[in-house]
Amino acid sequence: MCGIVGYVGDRDATPVLVNALRKLEYRGYDSAGIAVIGPEGLVVRKAKGALRRLEELIATETIRGSCGIGHTRWATHGEPSDVNSHPHTDVSGRIAVVHNGIIENHAKLRAWLEGRGVAFRSQTDTEVIAHLVDHHYEGDLLKAVVAVMGRIEGSYALAVVCEDEPGKIVAVRKDSPLVVGLGKAENLIASDVPALLEYTREVVYLEDKEIAVLTRDRVDFFDGAGERLSKKPSHVDWDVAAAEKGGFEHFMLKEIHEQPKALTDTFRARVDGDGKVNLSEIGLDESWARARRVVITACGTAWHAGVVAKYAFERI
Ligand code: GLU
Repeated sequence: MCGIVGYVGDRDATPVLVNALRKLEYRGYDSAGIAVIGPEGLVVRKAKGALRRLEELIATETIRGSCGIGHTRWATHGEPSDVNSHPHTDVSGRIAVVHNGIIENHAKLRAWLEGRGVAFRSQTDTEVIAHLVDHHYEGDLLKAVVAVMGRIEGSYALAVVCEDEPGKIVAVRKDSPLVVGLGKAENLIASDVPALLEYTREVVYLEDKEIAVLTRDRVDFFDGAGERLSKKPSHVDWDVAAAEKGGFEHFMLKEIHEQPKALTDTFRARVDGDGKVNLSEIGLDESWARARRVVITACGTAWHAGVVAKYAFERI
């Protein structure tokens, strides 16, 4: 579960997206990417590894366009690689999607789409969303996203753009955070407030299954059925450093309180439908039960936790 950002306005989108992604780096990630709509149509650049690699990739060219989306990935389905990095596109390459979370029924949807002739490029659960948006698209991106919400199960913060509607971002969330930033002649979205603060302090927090449609001059809000909603903006009066600490006095306290979420996020993709923990992907199977030694490596306070864990493991 990492970060997504989106920008539409008067500036060049690419530097804004990269800058905003940098503000989300503290969330941890294994790859990064952007999709920008400009005079050349939809341009996607993505790379495994640090944001620096994405910056190197785009340093050699000018990506024109003032509407785009960006992503830092924490892989759950499919190894970290260039092709599995987000954004993901539909077959024609006119629709791009960034996603944080897990699509639980992705295997069923993938089989259904493959049955209709769709050739998948990645191993991610996310790619089904790009193809589903394409399947439901009849000239109205909001309507297509509402239709897709009816088909996907799981957790998601999503941002979607389509070449046929340049200058528009459709964003929605369920069980993953998403905040809208309201600017002057520009609007933004991000997984967390620090990514927005350089551009605006007026924000709207999306609730589960709420949709935001962003253009340069306005943001419209809708519920999961596509009915219009009115939402009140909040003013953020903390500075970037405080925003990164999420209201906690210091990072250590924040991290302590984040432990249940960190554990849930880590295990979510590794628990089968019948509630069994499945670690086969990392080579941990029944043979583990025959292990004669467990080595815990840690430093700092984690060393103290490791010492306690030693006793717990020995007892088991
Ligand atoms: N499940 C998606 C993937 O593995 C999104 C992961 C994320 O939240 O970064 O690509």
